[in-house]
Amino acid sequence: MKLETMYQEIILDHYRKPLNRGLRTPFDVEVHHVNPTCGDELTLRIDIDHSDGNAVVSDVSYEAIGCSISQAATSVMTELVLDQDLAAALTTQGEFLTMMQSRGEVEPNEDILGDAIAFAGVSKYPARIKCALLGWMAFKDAAAQAMAAADASTDSQKETA
Ligand code: ZN
Repeated sequence: MKLETMYQEIILDHYRKPLNRGLRTPFDVEVHHVNPTCGDELTLRIDIDHSDGNAVVSDVSYEAIGCSISQAATSVMTELVLDQDLAAALTTQGEFLTMMQSRGEVEPNEDILGDAIAFAGVSKYPARIKCALLGWMAFKDAAAQAMAAADASTDSQKETA
């Protein structure tokens, strides 16, 4: 099977059977991101577990409307970040962003990207890049807000201790 065909299969598979779709509780942060050029909309929730001194993505869920690229990319993203250390999840996010901005010229790191490597070809189509990035940018935004809130509550705990 041609690589490009295999990548299309991965994208279609996630579009038809999206993972982690349907908003769940509990969650720390909910964000809403839109990609107006295509009409994609995404509401994303994340829950971060701070026990053991680590930050772990204990849950991620979403509701989305929009094109197949945006929906499939969000499904793949949730699969890759769920139950991961937040730092590792953000490394994957950075790797995906680099791949999408590469216009197909950078060899993507499959060890880090997993199924997300299927979107490498999308980076050649500028109009679709924002579709593929929607879920990942929403995740990064939600993670930053969750960490900021955690820092604030740690500070207040220190003050009362
Ligand atoms: Zn789109």
